[in-house]
Amino acid sequence: MSENGAGGIARESDSEFPIVIAAMPATTAQRKTALGVVIFLSVVAVVIAPFAHIQAARVDSFVPVLQSVLCVADLITASLLFTQYAIQPHPSLLVLSCGYLFSGSFAFLQTLAFPGAYAPAGLIGDGHNSAAWFFVLWHSTYLAAVLAYALSKDADWKFAPTRGSAKTKAAFTIILSFVLMAGLTWCVTQATEYLPELYRESVTLQTRLAIQVNLMLCALAGTALAALLFRQRTILDLWLMVTLLAWIPNFLLAAVVSAVRFSIGWYAARCFSLVASCMLLGVLLTEMTFLYSRLANALTLQRRERGNRLMSVEAATAAMAHELRTPLAAIALNASAALSQLRAEPPVLADLENILDDIETTSHRVGAVISAIRALSTKTLVDQRKMMRVEDVARQVLRLVQHDLQINEISVATDLEDDLPPVLADPTQLQQVVLNLVKNAIEAMNQIAPEERFLRLAARRAANSTVLLSVQDSGTGIFLEDRDRIFDPFFTTKPAGMGLGLAICRTVLENHSGKLRLANSDSRGSTFEITLPAGG
Ligand code: ADP
Repeated sequence: MSENGAGGIARESDSEFPIVIAAMPATTAQRKTALGVVIFLSVVAVVIAPFAHIQAARVDSFVPVLQSVLCVADLITASLLFTQYAIQPHPSLLVLSCGYLFSGSFAFLQTLAFPGAYAPAGLIGDGHNSAAWFFVLWHSTYLAAVLAYALSKDADWKFAPTRGSAKTKAAFTIILSFVLMAGLTWCVTQATEYLPELYRESVTLQTRLAIQVNLMLCALAGTALAALLFRQRTILDLWLMVTLLAWIPNFLLAAVVSAVRFSIGWYAARCFSLVASCMLLGVLLTEMTFLYSRLANALTLQRRERGNRLMSVEAATAAMAHELRTPLAAIALNASAALSQLRAEPPVLADLENILDDIETTSHRVGAVISAIRALSTKTLVDQRKMMRVEDVARQVLRLVQHDLQINEISVATDLEDDLPPVLADPTQLQQVVLNLVKNAIEAMNQIAPEERFLRLAARRAANSTVLLSVQDSGTGIFLEDRDRIFDPFFTTKPAGMGLGLAICRTVLENHSGKLRLANSDSRGSTFEITLPAGG
């Protein structure tokens, strides 16, 4: 997220593997899902609106049941957000976590005070105004927290705590929040005679002040929404906006209709509030599950890369260097001895034949070492081969890079023919080859607009009883002058590239009696093709 600059929650070091949803950029698919949810909620609201004023039966168990779920959802969300704050200590996350803590706690307290919920006049409070004041506290604290989050999330916080002290800070904030909540609860339950009335006599008829308060809440929700809309970038921002939209019917309805409680609109608005409360929790849990799968994929990849790329290149070169250094040193020593004997006046020719013999024998030894190393790697390869399907490898690779594709907003198409004959190959090595081609393709599309990023994997039967797998991208293509060099070891055009990927891929395929070639490349993208003999 380089557009984030130095500040904000998503710091540079986290952008490679963001671990909190406050730092993960929202993808196009997530935006579409969020829009779908908003459209669905709007349609439901429009359908219900004409009947909103109709007074329905009073179901006293509705509030305790619904608000208990809502309270649990908010408190779990708060604890997850506090955890995210402990991982990435940005003050805006702490403020938002507190917002959910207040929301869940006040929802619970309002249920206790709600007339008819647990007791005819409520378990706490004055029996008609306390519940309404709890409603105001519940929503004003939550909306204020979201607004504060939206305004502070991009700030470069110079004094952000370290991970260790973040836990202490979070614990201190939680204690402070509970103290504040206790004070406010005392005010709205024990000192209601000093507070203006929000409900007159009955529990259904609200005062003009209540209507104004609801309008204020609506305006606060609108302001928070606007602040998020202008600064939105991450998954958290996106779903907070949807949550705010789902809350708005609650305040609008209460502001428009004065006899609110137990009307159809009131029931509907409360259901909306439940959806709103569960929304972020659902997103947090879903993203955490995705994170686990990404982590598992990353570990698998890391293990494979270590096992293949590093082992096959670094270990092999280290082994070769070790084995070759001694004979090469002997050759050099013998050659300089021969030279000094030749340069002597008169030249000493007696030992020259023996020295040259030695050089010849040692050179043969070097050749034998190289053959032995080669035979060793080929043997390892043969041992691990089995009959397998290239289309399965293609699917596995797409699963492994699923997150990269998503983050880079790349559209993927597959055209994998059914009933392709199997090939005899080392599954790990073949997967590594396809993975390398797909990763190169993803990197090649970095520079082009997201809507033009397109990756296509196709597998089909080809001439001479071979199976062909192609990886096509819509990237920037390969310059004409580079096309012959891309398979050379250490040729790279990337600042952090090693230039070994394609060279290793080609060697692996040649060891499998297969081929790797660049089938096509121009300014609209490149296609790499792998062919392997069918049936081994
Ligand atoms: P590396 O990825 O480390 O550079 P590779 O051997 O995998 O090493 O690739 C060598 C070079 O080939 C890359 O630096 C890049 O210039 C070019 N290349 C490979 N695949 C593609 C592709 N799909 N599109 C454009 N260029 C590519």
